[in-house]
Amino acid sequence: MEVKIIRSRKRRRTVSAKMVNDCLVVSAPSSLSESYLTEIVSGFKLKFEKKRLKDELNKNQPLSEVAGLLNEKYFNNQLKINSIEYVSGQNSKYGCCNYRTGHIRVSHKVGLMPAWVRDYVLIHEMAHLLEPNHSKAFWDIVYRYKLSERARGFLMATGFNMEQEEGGGNESSDCGNC
Ligand SMILES: [Zn+2]
Repeated sequence: MEVKIIRSRKRRRTVSAKMVNDCLVVSAPSSLSESYLTEIVSGFKLKFEKKRLKDELNKNQPLSEVAGLLNEKYFNNQLKINSIEYVSGQNSKYGCCNYRTGHIRVSHKVGLMPAWVRDYVLIHEMAHLLEPNHSKAFWDIVYRYKLSERARGFLMATGFNMEQEEGGGNESSDCGNC
C-alpha cells in the first residue's frame, strides 16, 4: 500500500488518514516524532487493509447467497435473515447474530478459511435465529451440519475464543455469545 504523509504546522494533535485511489494519505502535525508517526501509520495501514479485504469478500462471495443455500438445506427455508455480511472490526469472535433484528455479522477472517469452516460459522449464527442461547436444542440444530465438530476444532486452532461458545449459554444478548 502506497503511503503519503502530509505534515502540517497548523495541525496540533490529531493524525488522520484516508484512502485516495489506493494511496493512504496521512495528515499529521509537523511536531510529531518520526517513530511515533511510523507506529500510527502502520496501525492505519492494518485497518485499511482489513477494510479492503472485507469489502472484497462482500463483493466476491456475498454471504447472503451462501446463507440462502444453507437456509434451504438445513433450515427448511424457515429463517428470516435481514442482513448477513463480513465485518472487519471483530477480532476474537468469528461471528455474531442479533436474533431480534435478524442481522448476522461474520469476521472477515472467516472469509479466508476453507468454505466448510465458513459454512459452519454461518450455520452457527443462523441457528441463533431459532435458539438465542447455546442450549442443547441449539447444538442439535448446528450438528445437522456434519462437519461442525471438525470446524470447531479448526476455529479453536486459529485462536478464536471458543470459551464463550461453550459457556455463557444463559445470556440471550444480541451479539454476545458466539
Ligand atoms: Zn453462538
